[in-house]
Amino acid sequence: MSTRISIPKICQHCGNSFIARTTVTKYCGDNCAKRAYKKRKRDEKIKASIEETKQQVQGLQSPQTVQTPDILTKQFLSIQGAAKLLGASRWTIQRMIQRDQLKSAKLGRRTIIARSEIDNLFN
Ligand SMILES: [Zn+2]
Repeated sequence: MSTRISIPKICQHCGNSFIARTTVTKYCGDNCAKRAYKKRKRDEKIKASIEETKQQVQGLQSPQTVQTPDILTKQFLSIQGAAKLLGASRWTIQRMIQRDQLKSAKLGRRTIIARSEIDNLFN
């Protein structure tokens, strides 16, 4: 290893120019090297913490998207779906249909309720 080389460089930490003795030197001295190292470690920690927060946020969001299934987006609901949406029992829904409070249609043997009919209940 040659000890004679001297390369003008710019410290990557403080931006001062200095003369490097090896081609791989990045900092003007031990202090800058240490500080840069600490800063890098801190940045890594901050990055990790941001990632962690992101994952927590995603973790909070994903159960919601799993639990808000088709019921909220479907145009037609089964009696059970309507009951779930309204927080009522399916018997309540069936009674409302029988009393013409809620319009329904037959789809084969199944009774379906238009989502808009449920929205109409609140108009
Ligand atoms: Zn420096």
